[in-house]
Amino acid sequence: MQNRSIYLDNSATTYTDPEVLAEMLPYFGQVYGNASSQHFFGRDALKAVDTAREKVAKAIGCKPSEVYFTSGGTESDNWAIKGIAHAHADKGRHIITSVIEHPAVIKTCKALEKEGFEVTYLPVDNQGFISLQDLEKAIRKDTALITIMYANNEMGAIQPIREIGAIAKKYSVIFHTDAVQAVGNLPIDVVADNIDMLSMSGHKFYGPKGVGVLYKRNGLKIARFMDGGEQERNLRASTINTPAIVGIGKAIELAVANMEKNNAHIAKLRDRFVSQVLEKIDDIYYNGPKDTSKRLPSNANFSFEFIEGESILMRLDMAGIAVSSGSACSSGSLEPSYVLLSIGVPIEVAHGSIRFSFGKNNTMEEVDYTVEELVKTVKVLRELSPLVKMVKGENKYV
Ligand SMILES: *Cc1c(COP(=O)(O)O)cnc(C)c1O
Repeated sequence: MQNRSIYLDNSATTYTDPEVLAEMLPYFGQVYGNASSQHFFGRDALKAVDTAREKVAKAIGCKPSEVYFTSGGTESDNWAIKGIAHAHADKGRHIITSVIEHPAVIKTCKALEKEGFEVTYLPVDNQGFISLQDLEKAIRKDTALITIMYANNEMGAIQPIREIGAIAKKYSVIFHTDAVQAVGNLPIDVVADNIDMLSMSGHKFYGPKGVGVLYKRNGLKIARFMDGGEQERNLRASTINTPAIVGIGKAIELAVANMEKNNAHIAKLRDRFVSQVLEKIDDIYYNGPKDTSKRLPSNANFSFEFIEGESILMRLDMAGIAVSSGSACSSGSLEPSYVLLSIGVPIEVAHGSIRFSFGKNNTMEEVDYTVEELVKTVKVLRELSPLVKMVKGENKYV
């Protein structure tokens, strides 16, 4: 049995912070009222939901009345994109997004194409950034929505969100951003950045799973996502999830309060990891932005030539190290990551990719152990790899 348990998959999900959990617990028990009820049980629940709404609003610089609680990042993305497309179809049926969006955005856009909407998928450069000129050129008279992610979940690229917002504003196009990887990790100001709508998810910043937020600027018309009750200002039906909402409120408050401290620690771990790996392992690609100010502090993504990501993952797993090959959403399939292909990683190399995502509880000792195990793993797999011989004429790793 493994005796280590090192979690380097913090972009897939994080643990629920014990402080967050403690704040949630009373709302499963004593304070179990339906926040829509008019008696004191309901009022107590509603008070907690209102407090959480204020905390979320404060964290991103919007008004509490602009915060809508959802079941997670995926619902927020679906609602934002379909809700705007359907409510503004008379203005136009064209949407602009990028090729590196999360499946929650890409597949929503694909679904709208089947309904007759037109979608432009902006390319990215070899470090993962869209071009502002491309964006401006793509805007048409019938463009109803621009949806571009804040920070990428696979290789960490942080898009020039403020500049994208300014362009959207200049052409009066609605701007949505999937900020699921950014919230809690980067300072966000929806007003300064001219963001009309933003998606977030509690479990990516030490809150509970199954709860998210859609921020929507007041006055912006959106179609409702589900038919039913009149919760969330008659736009998002279903009894609201009081404990989870209390949790996401506490989690975002803690994340913002400790952002600098946590990021300093996490970036130090990541930077040491990256420099050690680059020093000790040959024939690898470090994917994504090289400028650390434009990259999520938690993210490192490598492609290891001649070997499979899945094999690396399994061996690290046996050594007690949890990582991800490709995106969590596509793991299980043996397709190489479309995000890595989009930044120009050759298809045969993209197959050998691993994402390491660091969190606030990781330690330098864990980084050093992981480097050691990774060096061994890559060496063993390359000794077994027929590809090395095919490409290099001999297996220089043996
Ligand atoms: C995790 C993630 C999502 C999905 O969020 P869920 O709450 O798991 O539905 C969407 N977008 C990005 C960028 C993500 O990382």
